[in-house]
Amino acid sequence: MASHSRHTLHHLRTAVNRQPDRFVTNVYTRMFAIDPDLRDLFGVSMAAQQIAFHRVIDHVLEAIPAESGHADLVEFLAQLGRDHRKFGVEPEHYHVMYTALMGEFASLMEGYWDEEAQQTVSQAMMLVTGVMRGAAETATHPARWTAEVVEKYRISRDLAVVRLIAHAPLTFNVGQYLEVHIPQWPKQWRNFSPSIPPNPAGELEFHVRAIQGGTVSSAIVSETSVGDVWTLSQSHGTLHVDRDRPVLMVAGGTGLAPLRALLIEMSKRADSPPTHIFYGMRYPGELYDLSVLRRIAATNPWLQVTAVSEEERDPWWITAVATPAELGIDHEIGTLADVVVGAGNWEDHQVLIAGSAQMIEATRRKLIIAGVRASRIQHDPVY
Ligand SMILES: Cc1cc2nc3c(=O)[nH]c(=O)nc-3n(C[C@H](O)[C@H](O)[C@H](O)COP(=O)(O)OP(=O)(O)OC[C@H]3O[C@@H](n4cnc5c(N)ncnc54)[C@H](O)[C@@H]3O)c2cc1C
Repeated sequence: MASHSRHTLHHLRTAVNRQPDRFVTNVYTRMFAIDPDLRDLFGVSMAAQQIAFHRVIDHVLEAIPAESGHADLVEFLAQLGRDHRKFGVEPEHYHVMYTALMGEFASLMEGYWDEEAQQTVSQAMMLVTGVMRGAAETATHPARWTAEVVEKYRISRDLAVVRLIAHAPLTFNVGQYLEVHIPQWPKQWRNFSPSIPPNPAGELEFHVRAIQGGTVSSAIVSETSVGDVWTLSQSHGTLHVDRDRPVLMVAGGTGLAPLRALLIEMSKRADSPPTHIFYGMRYPGELYDLSVLRRIAATNPWLQVTAVSEEERDPWWITAVATPAELGIDHEIGTLADVVVGAGNWEDHQVLIAGSAQMIEATRRKLIIAGVRASRIQHDPVY
């Protein structure tokens, strides 16, 4: 890419990032002005969509002028195109997006918007919309699936297990997460990780914690009931276990779900590597799935389980199903990051971490300081 074009895209990125909220709002306003029906594709709240949109544009403006990584960028855009089918985005909408973006870029670049700049930005946006549109048109999987809730029970005041049967077989890999929307909050897509492997019967299980002030998670825990139909879309994530080295798993709260699914899958194999899972919550009584982990460990000698809680005892309002001691499981007190790092040398292990963004970051950082290679640590994106 010529240095003038590089400079233009760099300048544009700086201009976008000066007031990202305003930029995104203006682009959407332009899109809805060109095609008012587009507004119906999105949910009541567009906050998450707007943040994601800014991230994509920022990434694109950084990646196009870069020396390398263009194949990754194309795959990223193709995945985005396939994902957007779930909103009901049609091929003609990409031209609306292109027009809205070009209009907003022109106004942002006032004074610099000569013919050359216009051509550079136009080519970049043609690439973005062209790849997304092409991938959407050639995608082979359906854009969405539906599944019916067949069982739901509450483990505690803020935690529920939801079981569903999909109306058609779902395609995802064990350890991946799915985009989900529920009838109580149509078009508000959230990520949830199945806690059992995919199976031909289409059975799904999710563990959901209600976040304080959270719309979808609170509705699932308090309102979801048998007979509700959920919509599921693309699967994402690359959590996996290689069979050639021991495994360290670190699960915080409902982060247990994808790791539990992987353990269930591993229990079907004869050659699973030695695996140590640390499963943590704030209080010991919140470790709701310890009995399942103990059952897996009882018949799979390669699995070792350690329960971790920040507090030694439960407050009066938590009634533990069974304590770690009653289940014969080791119990350590502290944060997951501290307990895991203090429990051994993990340098030769592959590490899978799932849970809150803070826990993942703290554990990852401490493990790297303790000598674990960053390339051996896997976790889902945190956002
Ligand atoms: C890869 C991945 C897998 C996930 N798997 C699961 C799962 O299996 N089970 C599960 O219960 N959740 C899971 N989540 C979290 C889930 O996708 C939602 O983010 C969460 O349920 C909150 O959605 P909400 O609509 O209730 O909150 P929103 O209405 O979107 O947000 C309300 C407020 O809560 C904050 N917030 C949003 N998400 C979180 C969070 N995770 N932690 C703390 N604060 C938050 C927001 O910043 C906002 O201030 C996963 C997230 C990711 C990224």
